[in-house]
Amino acid sequence: VLAERPKADVQPGKTFQMQPQKKLNKDDLKEGQALVEIIYLSLDPAMRGWLNDTRSYVPPVPIGGVMRGAVIARVVASKSSKYEVGCHVYAACGWREQAVVEDKDGDVQRLDVPKGGRLTDALGVLGMTGLTAYFGLIDVGKVKSGDFVVVSGAAGATGSVVCQIAKLKGATVLGLAGSDDKVEWLRDLGCDDALNYKDADFATKFRTSTKGFIDVFFDNVGGDILDLALSRAKPHSRFVICGAISQYNSTEPKGPKNYLMIISMRIRMEGFIVFDYKDQYPAARQELSNWLAEGKIQRKETIVKGGLGVAERALLGLYEGTNTGKLLVEVQSE
Ligand code: NDP
Repeated sequence: VLAERPKADVQPGKTFQMQPQKKLNKDDLKEGQALVEIIYLSLDPAMRGWLNDTRSYVPPVPIGGVMRGAVIARVVASKSSKYEVGCHVYAACGWREQAVVEDKDGDVQRLDVPKGGRLTDALGVLGMTGLTAYFGLIDVGKVKSGDFVVVSGAAGATGSVVCQIAKLKGATVLGLAGSDDKVEWLRDLGCDDALNYKDADFATKFRTSTKGFIDVFFDNVGGDILDLALSRAKPHSRFVICGAISQYNSTEPKGPKNYLMIISMRIRMEGFIVFDYKDQYPAARQELSNWLAEGKIQRKETIVKGGLGVAERALLGLYEGTNTGKLLVEVQSE
C-alpha cells in the first residue's frame, strides 16, 4: 500500500508498506467471481506519476490504498462461468499476491497464449506497451514509408516495439538508448542506426546521424533529448509525446528550451494516452500477434524475481535503465 507520497525518487522502505492480507479461499467467493494468484506484476514509468496528488488522466493512488498495477494471474478457485480453475487472466489487481476478479469486470481478460507467444507478452508486446507503440507511431505519428524516425528510450518495452513497427512501415530508424549493450540490441532488431545517449560526444553524433533531419520523433524520455531532437526537426515533422521519464522524479519538470522550433519548423507535437484507443485494442493486438508469429517482431523482458517485496526496488530500476524490454516482477512462479 502507498504509505507516503515521495517528493522526488521513490524511497524504498518508506514510500510503500507491506500489509498482511487474509488468505482467501473458495468460500470467500460469490457467484460470478474467481480467486486468482498473481504471477507477474507489470512495472511502468507512469507509476511514479500516480503517486502525486495532482490532476492527471487517472486519480492518484490514495494514501493507504493498494498500489495500482496490471498483472497476469492464475485462477485457483472459481464460481465464475468465464474463468475456470487453471486458466490465466490479465487484470488490474494492483500490488497483491491474491485477488478476486469478477465476470462483469470488463478490464479482466482471459489469456490464451497465441502462436509464437508467451504468457508474459500480455503485459508487453501484446499489452499496454505494445499497444502504446502501435497507436503512438501509426495514429499519432502517422508514420509512412520513407520517413526518418527517431525513437528515444528505444530499448525499453515501448521503444523497442516502435522501432520495429517503424521498420515494418518502411521507415529509416535511429534508436537512442543508455548503454552499449542496448545499442547493439537495437541494431539486432533492425534499427538502421543506434546511439548511446550517455556517450560524451552524443550530441555531435546525434547531429551527424540526423543530417537529413527528422520526420517523426517518438519521445519516451523528454528533457535534453527532446530538446536536441527539436533542433533537428524537418518542416512539418511529427513529435509523438508518449512519455518523459527523465522528468518523472523531478519536483520541477522542465519543458523544452528549443520550443520555438515548433513554430519555425511547423512541427505537430502531440501527446496521447493509450487508454483512449480501447475500442481498437482487439484489431491492434491481432496485428501485433501476427507479426510476432511471423517473427517480424522480437521482444525482451527483464523479470525481477523475489516476490512482491522486491517491487518497490525494482520500480526504481526503470528510472536507472536496469531493464531491457519489458520490466516485470515475478510474484509467484508460473
Ligand atoms: P521502458 O521499458 O522504456 O523503461 C524505461 C526506460 O527509460 C529505461 O529502461 C531507461 O533506459 C530509460 N530512461 C530512464 N531514465 C531516463 C532518463 N533520465 N533519460 C533517458 N532515458 C531514461 O518503459 P515503458 O516502455 O513502459 O515506457 C516508456 C515511456 O512510455 C515512458 O515515458 C512511459 O511513461 C511512456 N508510456 C506512455 C503511455 C501513454 O499512453 N502515453 C503508455 C505507456 C508508457 P536507458 O537505459 O535507455 O536510459
